[in-house]
Amino acid sequence: MTCPSPFMTPEREAYRNNLRRFFDSEVKPHVEEWEANRAVPWELHEKLGDLGVFGFGIPEEYGGLGFDDAFMRADYAELAFGCGASGVAAAVGGRMISLGPIARFAPEEFKRTVLPEIIAGRMNSSLAITEPGGGSDVANLTTRAERDGDDWVLNGAKAYITGGMDSQWFVVGARTGGPGIAGISLFLIEADTPGFTRTPLGGKMGWHCSEQAMLHFDDCRVPGTALIGPENKGFIAIMNNFNHERLAMIAGSLGMMRVCYDSALDWARERRTFGKRLIEHQVIAHKFAEISARIDMIEAYLERICWAINQGLMPAAEIAKAKVQATKALEFVASEAMQIFGGAGYLTGNPVERVWREVKVMAIGGGSEEIMRDLAVRQMGLAGQ
Ligand SMILES: Cc1cc2nc3c(=O)[nH]c(=O)nc-3n(C[C@H](O)[C@H](O)[C@H](O)COP(=O)(O)OP(=O)(O)OC[C@H]3O[C@@H](n4cnc5c(N)ncnc54)[C@H](O)[C@@H]3O)c2cc1C
Repeated sequence: MTCPSPFMTPEREAYRNNLRRFFDSEVKPHVEEWEANRAVPWELHEKLGDLGVFGFGIPEEYGGLGFDDAFMRADYAELAFGCGASGVAAAVGGRMISLGPIARFAPEEFKRTVLPEIIAGRMNSSLAITEPGGGSDVANLTTRAERDGDDWVLNGAKAYITGGMDSQWFVVGARTGGPGIAGISLFLIEADTPGFTRTPLGGKMGWHCSEQAMLHFDDCRVPGTALIGPENKGFIAIMNNFNHERLAMIAGSLGMMRVCYDSALDWARERRTFGKRLIEHQVIAHKFAEISARIDMIEAYLERICWAINQGLMPAAEIAKAKVQATKALEFVASEAMQIFGGAGYLTGNPVERVWREVKVMAIGGGSEEIMRDLAVRQMGLAGQ
């Protein structure tokens, strides 16, 4: 947006500029190769760890930054998803969505020894909520954990788990009590636990440089300390955790829209049809007015939400609504940008072609558009009036 942001501070500007330099020099030149290789190099995890991007909201004694700032979190997500292949953000993102419950609920010993390794990017962790039978209806998840003496024994499966093939640690939602939201707990499970196996998900239309896995729990026995957070109160923790994931996806959609805008504008300034540059045709220029308005609106909505989060609020309804608007805007922008490219936009290697293939994972992952609208309506108390 050309209007200056009232929320920009010298610290945030310096942080954003530093990250931007990193992505420009160390990520963007390699995304084609990483997408083709179906992986990012492990050093990327460590370099991002050095930049502190995994440490927000986590005390320094556990390897964190010792402070939180929703604007900086959003800056990271915008640049990571907007680096030209949003799968790069996903490749390191399993850690991002599982760190919240680990930092909050893991045993003190774990927080002092293992958590700093995860935050530094030397180890990975994943969040495992979705199951083969469904991801939207978290309250009815079926992976079961039964007490056996001091231990717990898990049986069930998880699907689509980001980072699932290289993570050493998993935050797993499992049923420990009766049906519905009051019977779910969280477990922190190590990858080499007997009874735990994983298989790669296979081909997918986008996010090629990140991997997802199926997880299988077959009489998987874990010690009592693997239960993290209060027993049967895991649903609330899962829901709270989703807010940060969704914030990242709003900011990420913004970054992906900027990829479309910038690359389509470059093209429209160069490409000539009917004796003039594309941008000189009013119909095409108006597309840019529309695209930039969508970007501005999402940026403004995101900033307002970041401000609220920094005030100690967690506006779940606004986050849910903004996620829907962000992914709808992304869908519109990707479509219009590809239209501006004409046939060239349809070719593999065009930046918009990749964004196009990545739109749906943003609209479905972390809570689909349908579920976000439903959540917003409930949070706003509309259905009960
Ligand atoms: C690339 C990728 C990475 C992922 N990473 C992770 C991860 O790391 N960890 C993790 O736990 N999960 C992960 N997921 C799973 C993701 O969160 C789920 O795909 C998502 O929550 C939707 O669940 P589902 O696919 O089971 O769809 P379903 O729940 O089966 O829903 C199918 C469709 O029906 C709609 N729908 C469902 N219920 C209703 C309703 N009541 N009213 C109206 N419409 C409804 C949904 O919106 C959706 O469009 C990932 C998914 C993908 C594709």
